[in-house]
This record gives sequence, structure tokens and C-alpha cells, in this order.
Amino acid sequence: MKPSPIFLVLGLFFLSSWGFNPHKKINQTAVFLLPTELASFYKTCIKQITDKAVDADKRCYIDTIEGPKHYIDLDQYENIDSIPIHWSKAKEKLNERKLLAQGIVPWQINRTYQNLVQAFKSKDNKRIIQLSADLGHYVADAHVPLHTTSNYNGQYTNQIGIHALWETRIPEMYMTDYDLFIGSAQYISDPVNFAWKIVRESNALVDSVLLIEKALNKSFRDSEIKSYIERNNQLI
Ligand SMILES: [Zn+2]
Repeated sequence: MKPSPIFLVLGLFFLSSWGFNPHKKINQTAVFLLPTELASFYKTCIKQITDKAVDADKRCYIDTIEGPKHYIDLDQYENIDSIPIHWSKAKEKLNERKLLAQGIVPWQINRTYQNLVQAFKSKDNKRIIQLSADLGHYVADAHVPLHTTSNYNGQYTNQIGIHALWETRIPEMYMTDYDLFIGSAQYISDPVNFAWKIVRESNALVDSVLLIEKALNKSFRDSEIKSYIERNNQLI
């Protein structure tokens, strides 16, 4: 989820009603894809890994530095290839405030991973669980094309609402049809490079996401596009 300060209060209201099922499902499924030596630990805390999948989004409402960790507006850079993939180099080359304003998800994935490694070294189970849940969240966010563009809710293309449609409503409706068991997890030797690969791939799909929604929108009557749904006993 990409937060906006204006919606802080609204966000707090919706937080209780929003299902957040996709993040939870992704974290839960990830546990089953882990190699045996890791899975045995993670299966003992799978409920926490699942429940805490949405903690990172919850923090956005109480911590202003949390928001930028969930996205990167790649369209705000003249040339994606000119962005240094390492945070220290990026800070040297570009203004840190500007970097933060445009989002830092690939760097955050690496930072959370490094913190997780430290937590394992110090055998801090509480921190291992929290950081693992957070890592699952940031990696999932990085896979959302709309998390890699400043037009994240279709506000520049008259497609307001596309964000929740894409990452919440559609998965909620079709999650049971998705094949989530994509094979066992592979070791990634260069996490920051891999995080950048993810956001580049996501960003390459932004046009498709916008174009497909536009085409679909035309094929439905207005009354068919928006409707009330009941979620956690609330009509929204
Ligand atoms: Zn998020």
C-alpha cells in the first residue's frame, strides 16, 4: 500500500476493515517454499509470519519514515540505469531527501535482509520473526507495478482506484485460483541486485496494467464497475 499523509485518518479507519489478505497469503505461502533447514523454524511461527505481514503497512500511519520503504517512483528519474543500486552510492550521487521522496523499496529490501541476517546471528527470535514478515511485505510490494510509478493510483490517467483494484480486490476475488506453489526457494547471493531486478520487471509492466484496466473499464457499464462489498462485517 502506498500511503499519503492526507489519508492518515481515513487510513486508520479503513485499517480495521481492510482485509490485507494478499500480503498475509504471500508470507504464509513463502514458508512452505523454504528449504527444510529454514522451514522447520518458520513452521513453528507461521501464524506470526502471516499475521505480521501487514505490520509494515500499519506502521505507515504512525511513522512518517515508513511510507517510502514500500515503493519507488522510477518514472521520476530521467534514466533508471543511472540510479546506483547501492544505497551508499545513491546517496553520494543523488540528494537523500529526493531519494526518500521518490521511495526506496529496493534498498529497503536489502536493508531488511541485512538486519535479518544480524538477527539470526544474535539468535533473536522475536526480531527474526518481525524482520522476516517485513521482508516478505517489501518484496511483495516491489512486485506490484503500481508501486514503481508516481501514477500509483491512476491519478494522472483518470484511473483512480486502480491501486486497490489491482493489489487487493482482484487477489481477494481470484486468490483461490492462483497457483502459489512456484517451486522451492532459491538462494539469492546478491539481494540488492535482485531487488532492483524485481522493481525493473514490475516497472516494465506499468503500461500494461494501465492499458488493460482502461480497456476493461470501457467494456463495463458504470453500475457494474463500483459496488458495495461486505468486508469484516462492514459495508464498504
Ligand atoms: Zn506496503
